[in-house]
Amino acid sequence: MKNAAKLLLCAVLAACVLCSCSVNVNVNPTETTDAVTQTTTEKTTENKTGEPVQQQTETASETATEKQTVSKADTDKKLKIVLDPGHDSTAHTRNHPGLGVNEQDLNFKIARACYRKLKQYDCIDVYITRKNGDCPNSDKKYSDDKAHGDACIYARTDFAEKKNADIFVSFHCNSSTGKLGAKANGAEVYVTKHSKLRVESELLGKLVLEHITSALDLKSRGLKTRVKPEKVTYDDGTPKDYYYLLSNNIDNNRPAIIIEHAYMDNAHDNKILRDDESLKKLGEADADAIIDCYGLNL
Ligand SMILES: [Zn+2]
Repeated sequence: MKNAAKLLLCAVLAACVLCSCSVNVNVNPTETTDAVTQTTTEKTTENKTGEPVQQQTETASETATEKQTVSKADTDKKLKIVLDPGHDSTAHTRNHPGLGVNEQDLNFKIARACYRKLKQYDCIDVYITRKNGDCPNSDKKYSDDKAHGDACIYARTDFAEKKNADIFVSFHCNSSTGKLGAKANGAEVYVTKHSKLRVESELLGKLVLEHITSALDLKSRGLKTRVKPEKVTYDDGTPKDYYYLLSNNIDNNRPAIIIEHAYMDNAHDNKILRDDESLKKLGEADADAIIDCYGLNL
């Protein structure tokens, strides 16, 4: 293992010492190299403000072949996890009538299934950024739709900050052309390149992909990174993540990932996403990944 990886490993979260179940971090940061193995250019609906953009992503280095368990018993508090069902039914919608789905509803169903499973673990505190179709700060008024939509995104990370969360997981579904029959398919997870949080982010992302693809007939597209084109950096000099949901959390020293579970406009994936039982399985697979990553025991 590289020295840098060892340092990163030591920086990874926390063990829960006063609660009835244990929390450990199972990390295998084996050779987290800087090598980027693949670059893709695909359209996606996922950008901060919601417009489809031509996207350049990099496939992050894959971690891990053998597991290690690291626990840093430095806290007497529960591990706090914020689950974030992306978008909402008012200011930041993702309606796809031609596809028979609305992304905000899919995200919510998946996140709720994850939430319900994690709630069984009394050694963690699990929160969800919205409990219905409304955006997280629906009680506020804004001058225009864009301001309102942006505020709904900021409210998600503000929520995590207020809860003093240890982990932030955002739930999304993907699209490429927006028309049923698109070629792109499968699950992918956006992770950070930040030097301190990269290992944990990649490990959680890797486990998410493993569990999703075990639970459902979905292809793994791997871990992805996308950085801001302006070449701005974090405090450690690494490129700042494009997505605010990642960059704001990372700026606040909080590991974060964005899960794109499947492609709404791919016929195969679409069929899965239109089945509520499959959405439940996706959410429970995400929960299983978190359980594995942090070594949660009932
Ligand atoms: Zn989305």
